[in-house]
Amino acid sequence: MISKAKIHSAILVMALLFSEYASAEWQLREFNVMGTRARVEFWSTDKALSATLHEQVEADMRRIDASMSPYKPDSELSAINQKAAEQAVVVSRELFALIKRSIDYSQLTSGAFDITFSSVGFFYDYRQHQRPSSEQIEKHLAGINYRHLVLNDEQGSVKFKSKGVRIDLGGIAKGHAVDRAIDILKRGGIKHAYVSAGGDSYALGNRGDRPWMIAIKHPRDKTRSLLTIPLENLAISTSGDYERYFDENGVRYHHIINPKTGDSARNSQSVTILADNSTDADALSTSVFVLGPEKGLQLIDKTPNVSAVIVDKDGKVHYSSDLVSIDQ
Ligand code: AMP
Ligand code: MG
Repeated sequence: MISKAKIHSAILVMALLFSEYASAEWQLREFNVMGTRARVEFWSTDKALSATLHEQVEADMRRIDASMSPYKPDSELSAINQKAAEQAVVVSRELFALIKRSIDYSQLTSGAFDITFSSVGFFYDYRQHQRPSSEQIEKHLAGINYRHLVLNDEQGSVKFKSKGVRIDLGGIAKGHAVDRAIDILKRGGIKHAYVSAGGDSYALGNRGDRPWMIAIKHPRDKTRSLLTIPLENLAISTSGDYERYFDENGVRYHHIINPKTGDSARNSQSVTILADNSTDADALSTSVFVLGPEKGLQLIDKTPNVSAVIVDKDGKVHYSSDLVSIDQ
């Protein structure tokens, strides 16, 4: 016979389990930041902690936006663009480090990734369907060259070697923001999370009993995805010519610029990179988009722990060799 006390304790355990279960939820928040939509989702049974972490992550992304936006006239980045041709501009360590990492990427990609793309890129306005004339491109193309940037490590300052140079961290800053968000969540004790800012995301741990399932958009068909990839503890970034663009006389002008020509990069429709952190995935997705499938896959195949899925200009899908071998 089961005693009354045992029944009571069984009910108590069930009640505890139920309350644990009822309050344990996927904590989701979405907001607009850095010109895109951010999504922050994690598993926690603690509602108060979850609210605090959501606030910290959102505040951190807004802080990064306020510092690194080229569109906000009072951002640190705008101060560089306004003054660095005349004088060395001292910036925060965080911004300095990200500019430095961008230059590392320029060196790694033979200049395909170059934050001075903005010297010409600045003249595009995709919403207004505006692009630079060929005269403007000719005049400003010389401004695109990462070698124009002089970084002083001791001072933490940035200077331009010549006039007409502008920088823009749009190809790497969202990845950086995602990495920072994941750091904040991990420090708060979170083990399972998904953070995305536009096309840049990181999947921490898993989603309950299964990996995070991340869909890659089809670059020419909004109604379906190209591929869905199961991810755990990996960053995924996609760069596409369908994100910010306009079409004119059958030619697409979009936001990823070939530093050699000042025109939109025309070798790819979309590039997805998997890496162990979001900053690298972000910089590499933009880089490989510019490089195109052939040179892009050469770069990815010699870089450890990085994979790529490339849709080339004709819509053909290419995989880095590690993914091809999984496929077979
Ligand atoms: P993503 O979507 O990560 O590929 O980033 C695209 C953004 O990167 C653009 O909106 C620009 O801000 C920036 N960008 C464009 N072309 C380049 C380039 N060649 N090198 C570095 N950043 C670029
Ligand atoms: Mg990128």
